[in-house]
Amino acid sequence: MSAASEFSFKVGTRLEGRHGRTGVISTPHGDIATPAFTPVGTKATVKAVLPETMKELGSQALLANAYHLYLQPGPDIVDEAGGVAAFMNWKGPTFTDSGGFQVMSLGVGFKKVLAMESVGVQSDDVIAKGKERLAHVDDDGVTFRSHLDGSKHRFTPEVSMGIQHQLGADVMMAFDELTTLMNTRGYQEESLERTRRWAKRCLDEHERLTAARSHRPYQALFGVIQGAQYEDLRRKACRDLEALRGEAGTGFDGYGIGGALEKHNLGTIVGWCCDELPENKPRHLLGISEPEDIFTAVENGADTFDCVNPSRVARNAALYTDEGRFNINTARFKRDFTPIDETCDCYTCANYTRAYIHHLFKAKEILAATLCTIHNERFTVRLVDRVRESLDGGYFDDYKTDFLGRWRGRIKAPGLQGN
Ligand SMILES: [Zn+2]
Repeated sequence: MSAASEFSFKVGTRLEGRHGRTGVISTPHGDIATPAFTPVGTKATVKAVLPETMKELGSQALLANAYHLYLQPGPDIVDEAGGVAAFMNWKGPTFTDSGGFQVMSLGVGFKKVLAMESVGVQSDDVIAKGKERLAHVDDDGVTFRSHLDGSKHRFTPEVSMGIQHQLGADVMMAFDELTTLMNTRGYQEESLERTRRWAKRCLDEHERLTAARSHRPYQALFGVIQGAQYEDLRRKACRDLEALRGEAGTGFDGYGIGGALEKHNLGTIVGWCCDELPENKPRHLLGISEPEDIFTAVENGADTFDCVNPSRVARNAALYTDEGRFNINTARFKRDFTPIDETCDCYTCANYTRAYIHHLFKAKEILAATLCTIHNERFTVRLVDRVRESLDGGYFDDYKTDFLGRWRGRIKAPGLQGN
C-alpha cells in the first residue's frame, strides 16, 4: 500500500534518559511539529471559535469525535463534503477518535475517565449514580442508545472504521473497549483480549477501505492501548498491537494511549507504554490538557494529545495563565482593566480587558465564550510549543521546574492573589 508513504513520522531531539522527544508527523493535509496539542472540535467545530482563528492561534491539528458526527449530521454527509476538514473549512490535519470512548462512557454515565474516582470499589457492573446503562458490550461490538434521542445503534470495529473513513481524518483510532478503574482484574484481561481482536478487525477493514477508496488521501490508523492501571496488561497490549498485521500485511501507523488511569499514575503508565512501543511511530495520548499532565506526558514519550477542557472550561469563565487558573466571573475583576494575562500573545489579551470579559459573562453574552476559548486554546498550544522548544534547546527540566513552580503558585501573579 504505497499510499501509506503520505503519512510518516520523523524523530528529532531526544530527551536524555527518558522517552520524551520532538518530531514531525507528516500527513496529506500538512505537517505537525511534535509534541503538539490537538484541540477538540467534537462536532466538527471548536465551540464558539472560527477555524481560521484556531489556525491563527497556532493550532496544528484538530480532533473530531466519530460518535457525535455519526449521530449528527451522519458520516455520509461529511464524506460527500470531502471529509471533516473540508466540511468545517479547516486547512490542516485532523484526527478522529473511534467513537468507542463516547459510546461506552456516555453509556455508563462517566464523562471523563481521568475524573473517575476509584474508591476501592471493584465491580463490573458499576454505572454512575442516577444513570441508566445505555451501552452493552459483547464480543462482536457495542450496542448503545443515542444520548440525543434514545434511538438504538450498534458499533463494531468494522462500523467504526467505515465511519472514520467517511469522516476522512488524517489520523484515525482503532475501535477499543473502554474499561473503568472499577472493573475487576479478570474483566480487564478479558476486555484487553477483546480489544486486541477488535484491533485486528480494524486493520483488516482499514486495508479494505483504503483500497476501495484510493481516490481519497491516505488515512493513518493508530492502535489504542488499554490495560488500565496494570503494568503487565499495558505492556502486553503494546506488544500485541505492535505485532498485529492486517490480511495484506498492514500494521498500525501509530498508537493511542487510552483508557482508565488516575492522574498520579499518568507518567508511569505512559512510560510503560513507551518502553514497549516502537520509537519510529507517533504516540497520541487521549484526553489530557492540564499543564502538569502535559509536562508528565511529554517527558514520558507522548507526541500528541487532545482534550476538550481548554474550551469547555473557558465557557465556564475559567482561564489559564502561567500563574495558575482563575475564574473571571468573580467580583474582583469588575474594574480590572488589564488583559487576562499580560504575557499572553493571543487576540483576546491584545484587545480586551478582564473587566469587559467579566461584564460579558455577567450579561450572558456569547462573545464571552469566544474570547475566553481563544485565550485558553492559545495558552495550551503555546505551552506545548514552549515545551517543544525546551526539548530542542536542551533545557526541558529547567523549563518544567520554572513553569510548574509558577503554575502551582509559588510565585503569585499580581492581581491573582487570594485566588
Ligand atoms: Zn490570551
